Amino acid sequence: MKKYAVSEKNSLGREYPENKSPLRNDFQRDRDRIIHSSAFRRLMYKTQVFVNHEGDMFRTRLTHSLEVSQISRGIARSLGLNEDLSETIALAHDLGHTPFGHAGQDALNQCMKDHGGFEHNYQSLRVVDKLEKRYSNFSGLNLTFESREGILKHCSKKNASLLGRIGERFLNKTHPSLEAQIVDIADSIAYNIHDLEDGYRSGILPISKLNQLDFFAKHYNYLKKDFDSNEANEKVCVYETLRHMIFLLINDATNNSKKLISEANIKTIDEVRNHKTTLINLSEPVQNYLNDCRIFLRANLYEHPRVNKMTSDAQRIIIDLFSYYEDNFKALPNDYKIHEKKYRSIADFLSGMTDRFANEIHKSLN
Ligand code: MG
Repeated sequence: MKKYAVSEKNSLGREYPENKSPLRNDFQRDRDRIIHSSAFRRLMYKTQVFVNHEGDMFRTRLTHSLEVSQISRGIARSLGLNEDLSETIALAHDLGHTPFGHAGQDALNQCMKDHGGFEHNYQSLRVVDKLEKRYSNFSGLNLTFESREGILKHCSKKNASLLGRIGERFLNKTHPSLEAQIVDIADSIAYNIHDLEDGYRSGILPISKLNQLDFFAKHYNYLKKDFDSNEANEKVCVYETLRHMIFLLINDATNNSKKLISEANIKTIDEVRNHKTTLINLSEPVQNYLNDCRIFLRANLYEHPRVNKMTSDAQRIIIDLFSYYEDNFKALPNDYKIHEKKYRSIADFLSGMTDRFANEIHKSLN
């Protein structure tokens, strides 16, 4: 590993000191704690774009997190960085997501607007720091500083100022480890490409639509020459196209970051943190391709009437549940009742729900 990679030697360690494991390094141990957590299992039943009952073949938060971890590990390995740490952060990066994807998050944030708001990144950190209860000596999973720092991808200044050392970088504009920066980019690569695929499978983004995206069309039209035109072949050609696109993105992220690190003459992890910009980045033309994907998906998938219908149903459910627990705080499970912080407790409980569980509770109230 490179000297500027995170390692057990330069790690800032855990809040509650623990004996070293004879079998695993600290970051492998963090990863295993995340995989054994109940919040991680619940990702299986949380929406990425399509709500759980829309079908079984779409991405969920769990499969998304696995894809992000796979991409992150590949980039970390190629750059001589700490693969275990990138994997850990990737597996945990969405733990704080509400049911029903961004619609759920927006609705909960709205409900919480007079009570400190709701940020899913901050919530992911809350899950691993406080809400998981599996150890007798402490709440949470007692992860290393570097895993926690990576999980807190974004944070408002207000929340950052309450978090001590982990929040400092949002106040003094420094950066997290390269391993955390990798997950950030792997997340965008994964969701942009897999949402194109899920959009295609759902029928919302047929070939005629996908071809309006230049990045897609360029690869598709090039590959199409080798395929006979029938439906089965069209599918394979779409998957091959997406595979080429994802390869190009990962390859560019790796090579361009290698170049940036070398040009900045980075030698230590402190130099990574204090550098004026992040060092894991796509080159400009490829970043533009990815931005085009994002704009295309917003216009054609995320705001499609079928997805919008799911979104508005989801918002209704979150708003109804919030007001129910606001009026019936006693009905909240004991684990979540921190009486002096009523609204935060409700947000913790609601954000931890799976799509299905939120639906069931909602039905039972009517
Ligand atoms: Mg994500």
